[in-house]
Amino acid sequence: MLHGTLTTFRRRCGKPGCRCVGGEPHESPALTYTEDGRTKTLTLGAAEVAEVKAALARFESARADLEAQAREGVAALRARRGASK
Ligand SMILES: [Zn+2]
Repeated sequence: MLHGTLTTFRRRCGKPGCRCVGGEPHESPALTYTEDGRTKTLTLGAAEVAEVKAALARFESARADLEAQAREGVAALRARRGASK
């Protein structure tokens, strides 16, 4: 499971004569995520992108489940108060 954002890095390598000098930067997939309040970046291999996407989807799915359970918790608490009055 992963929590972060899949992004694409564009950079110029600085080598003279490279295609990036002509305005076509190198692109590499990367994962940005937050750790201890700081945004961090992990560059990914092309083969890792699908795996990372799936892991991010698992996190979103799990988070949606947790939020639904939390709403049920509030609803249960409210219902109990309503019943005791
Ligand atoms: Zn280059």
